[in-house]
This record gives sequence, C-alpha cells and structure tokens, in this order.
Amino acid sequence: MDILYTSGFLLLGLAVGSFLNVCIDRLPRGESILNPPSHCQACQHRMAVKDLIPVFSYLWLRGRCRYCQASIPRRLLWVEVATGAIFAFLYWRCGVSPELGVMAFYACIFIIIFMVDLEHGLIPNQVVYAGMVIALLIALFLPQPWITQLKLHGAANFALGGAIGFGILLLIAIISGGGMGWGDVKLAGLIGLATGFPLVFVALVMGAILGGLVAGALLAMKKRGRKEAIPFGPFLSVAAMITLLWGSNILQWYLGLM
Ligand SMILES: [Zn+2]
Repeated sequence: MDILYTSGFLLLGLAVGSFLNVCIDRLPRGESILNPPSHCQACQHRMAVKDLIPVFSYLWLRGRCRYCQASIPRRLLWVEVATGAIFAFLYWRCGVSPELGVMAFYACIFIIIFMVDLEHGLIPNQVVYAGMVIALLIALFLPQPWITQLKLHGAANFALGGAIGFGILLLIAIISGGGMGWGDVKLAGLIGLATGFPLVFVALVMGAILGGLVAGALLAMKKRGRKEAIPFGPFLSVAAMITLLWGSNILQWYLGLM
C-alpha cells in the first residue's frame, strides 16, 4: 500500500513540477500562466499531449522540440524530477495529513523562487505575495504542531516571524546600500511567516551560511568574479525548506552547544 501511495505522490509531484516549469518560464516575462497553452519557445508550435508528459516526453524526444529540433532547457527535466522526489519524500515523512499539504505548498513556492532568481536574478512578486497571503491564512486557521519550539501562541508567532525576517533583511539592505535586493527583503518576510519565531533565525542564518559557502567556492574555482552578484533567493529558499522540515532539531542542537 505504501509503495502505491509513494509512487502516487511521486507522479503527482512530476505533474506539479511540470506546472511549476510553466510558472518559472512565464512569470518573469509577465505572461499569464494559463494562456496561451504550452508551446515551443523557438518555433511557437503548440505542444500536443504526448509532448507534455513529465520526464517521459523530455527523455523520449532527447531534450529537443518534436517540430523544430530546438533544444529544450534541461531545467524542465530537473524541476519535474526534483518536485516528484520532494512530494514522495513529504508523503513518506508526513503521511496524508494537513502537514503534507502545507509542506507541499511551500515546496512549490520555494522551487519557483529558487529557479526564477537563479535564472533571472529576480524574485517574482506575485509568488511572494500569494505565498504571504496563504501563509497568513495557514497561521490563522490551521494549528501547525509540526513546527515546535514556538514561543508565542498561534498566529502571533508567525506574524512576529514575518516581521523579524522582513525587518532584518530590510536593515541589511539599507546598511549595504543596494547589496541586498528588495525582492530578498520581501522573501525573508514570507519565510518568517512560514517558519515563525524563533525558527526564522535558523532559516536566515542557514541561508547566509549556504550563500557564503557557495559564493566562496565559486570564487575559489574562478567561476565568478568578485564583483559579480550571486542571487541570494535560491539560498534563502533552500534554507526555508530545510528549516520547515528540520528547523526545530537544528535549533535544539545549536542551543545544546551553548
Ligand atoms: Zn519548436
């Protein structure tokens, strides 16, 4: 039974990943995510159903458009596979529960932000605002016992988390004078709303550490110059997801060190 459900959530994740790809393609260009139907970016040919089967179509067509042979970005495959794997993992971890729904929702939001910031160096407002509204609704109406370590009762905790995330990055943005983007500030607000207080600190610190490590590695390998900006959104997104899943354990471990 469990294998059946796990594969079911894997397939659901692949399909959802396919939709996330549409969002990642279109949101930065200000296009509707519903219209027009999926088409090849090169020849504009409309995709048939057989071209839109997650993972399978990409492999079958060897990453090229059926109609004009233009290569399809490999990212389409990675996002589908990653979303599928994450959904299967979330089912394994949470079972069919409100936690699964909440985690899957945040995973989708953070996958879109991760990829759009990586590819375009911007964080789509629509996604952050939609995420904030739903995070607020979750905080108001759904108890989240899976996020332990809460210091305040109910929604106040998440509101405080949002204010802290937004406030800290706003301060850094002002002090650094443009080193930190406005998009990152709003994203940190969303992350605080999702993780609450005090886990928002875990997410922010982890994002900074991850960003520092990767920036240092790129610099050492001379893949990036000292002056080139590295987007912060992808690191914050990964850190947010890790914090949602393991933040309480990480905080406990850290406090145990002191
Ligand atoms: Zn084409």
